[in-house]
Amino acid sequence: MPINIFSGAAGENGVNLLRRFEKNLQYYFAYDTMAFIKQKERYFMNKRNVCDAPVEGKRILLRCDFNVPYDENGEISDTRRIDESLETIKFLISKNAKVIICSHFRRPHGVFDESMSLKKAAGYLASKLNMNIKLASDVVGESAKALVSSLKEGEICVLENLRFEIGEEENSEEFAKKLASFADIYVNDGFGVCHREHASLVGVPKFLPSYCGFLIQKEVQTISSVINNPKRPLVSILGGAKVSDKIGVIEHLVDKVDAFIIGGGMTYTFMNALGYSIGDSICEKSKLSLAKDILALTKEKGVKLLLPVDCKLGKEYKSDTETMIVDSDKIPDGWQGLDIGPKSIELFSNELKNAGSVIWNGPLGVSEWSSFAEGTFSIARSLANSSAQTVIGGGDVAAAVNKAGVADKMYHISTGGGSSLMFLEGKELPAIAALPDK
Ligand code: AMP
Repeated sequence: MPINIFSGAAGENGVNLLRRFEKNLQYYFAYDTMAFIKQKERYFMNKRNVCDAPVEGKRILLRCDFNVPYDENGEISDTRRIDESLETIKFLISKNAKVIICSHFRRPHGVFDESMSLKKAAGYLASKLNMNIKLASDVVGESAKALVSSLKEGEICVLENLRFEIGEEENSEEFAKKLASFADIYVNDGFGVCHREHASLVGVPKFLPSYCGFLIQKEVQTISSVINNPKRPLVSILGGAKVSDKIGVIEHLVDKVDAFIIGGGMTYTFMNALGYSIGDSICEKSKLSLAKDILALTKEKGVKLLLPVDCKLGKEYKSDTETMIVDSDKIPDGWQGLDIGPKSIELFSNELKNAGSVIWNGPLGVSEWSSFAEGTFSIARSLANSSAQTVIGGGDVAAAVNKAGVADKMYHISTGGGSSLMFLEGKELPAIAALPDK
């Protein structure tokens, strides 16, 4: 980590320096091997980082991921993605750069929609930085052009939701050129959207000198270190609705983990493959032979695979339905498994007690509903009380860990559900691949 990025910095930046230095200490002392340093280089040191960019006084197009969840009152319910982008933003301001932030929010599919404006995100950012931040009323139109050209050194403006322009999702070269024309340098720090091949992510780097920000570096560095140089045993908890969404992860991790813990809707395809009746539980019939293959593969490789031994069933797929708890081999017709049961919570918690590292992707039940959230919440609490380094792969589990009040006990909570999933599949994220190597 080059020290020069902090030279002359005081106050807030000094605090950041200490924080980052502490992280690195943890890092180097925890994995004191050349192999680790090599991995680290392979995974993130080869990408040009913002701290290597000549940003002083320059116009910077900064791609963030401000696609944050809102509550029923229309307020931001989880600010993590914006909070995590502050480090790069503060760094750029400290260098007197003119910062032009762009992000998407939800899926307006090329049409302006007031309810998907970045107004709240820009307002929150302004309050966090205690500075005036203007939001353009369009993306690359007259309002954006005027704001960008009036921007002074050390100031920030935000462009409207990128997806108000159809060219964003279509990865239009023309749209990418328009965005690029606003700036001298491009910095991507929107890890949560790096699995997408959109214009602001893979198009703009063709037209500007490009760099990754501190958040992308942190995400890639942390997730790859836990996958490739974990404290053992390494356990992967996989949940969520479908087996088909997690096959790639299982295939990639089977040679790396010591155990898999399976929960959520994908459980029932496995149980069905083992010959159990699963009542009305969600099941991907077309993936039964694949589930059998996975069971055989883990056995062959000597990797433990734990399935729930009991389930909390619902009569219907709704939050206030009648419920009961049964052993996994006794699911009656007319009922569906919507959470793991207490015996499974105990079994999984015991397995996790000895874990050195844990990678968790996908909830263990329908955790959005309090009636079927206990399995996910209990495992989150077990992990919070263990010494395992837990990486949460974003999405529903990140929300559950927040709700369970144990977010600060986790080693890392990714800002990207889709991106971290792709990362766990061992695939290259297109938006990171689009950034030049050092
Ligand atoms: P994913 O995006 O694949 O991680 O899936 C997350 C979704 O899986 C959440 O919306 C959960 O409600 C859903 N889910 C978890 N467990 C179950 C289950 N047993 N039956 C149906 N859906 C489930």
